[in-house]
Amino acid sequence: MPEAELRPLYSTAEIADRLHQMAGNIAGEMSPGFVMVAILTGSFVFAADLIRALAAEGCDPAVDFMILSSYAGSTRSSGTVTLLRDAALDVRGRDVLVVDDILDSGRTLAFAQDHLRARGASSVRICVLLDKATAAREDHCHADFVGFRCPDAFVVGYGMDHDHKFRGLPHIAVLCQ
Ligand code: 5GP
Ligand code: MG
Repeated sequence: MPEAELRPLYSTAEIADRLHQMAGNIAGEMSPGFVMVAILTGSFVFAADLIRALAAEGCDPAVDFMILSSYAGSTRSSGTVTLLRDAALDVRGRDVLVVDDILDSGRTLAFAQDHLRARGASSVRICVLLDKATAAREDHCHADFVGFRCPDAFVVGYGMDHDHKFRGLPHIAVLCQ
């Protein structure tokens, strides 16, 4: 396979600026006792920076994680979402903010939202770093907080991988194959 080319899309500084704006919006709109549930693995860098940006806004949410998988080493979603690890916190009666890297077809976040509602969360809002301009969006999934509306391309870096590579890139790039 030829070497993949990486084209820079969002710089480290652009991401940091946007995160501080998003944290201000989240702090203004979420109730004080909310729970942040980050979807692993792709959101771990975003979630780590977001929780510190939220702290700077005076917010101190409980944090938990769910592991959901639909890609399995490919650049295309398999279409089936698998719950590999559920959030351990009891979310009954609490406002939840689901944090993920990318909203693409919406299947992953629709699954997370349905699952957390079924577990008794009083509200489930969605925060994504990237909202992809895709024709494949399933219309029942909508993000309440969005970092960037990005082009319909496969992106890596800032926690996002392709086949377990590129997660440590400090910026976001388009993977051109
Ligand atoms: P959806 O279920 O909305 O189609 O896909 C969302 C999930 O697929 C995201 O949580 C993310 O993990 C993964 N994904 C979607 N698009 C991309 C992409 O361009 N790059 C990477 N690395 N992951 C993606
Ligand atoms: Mg993901």
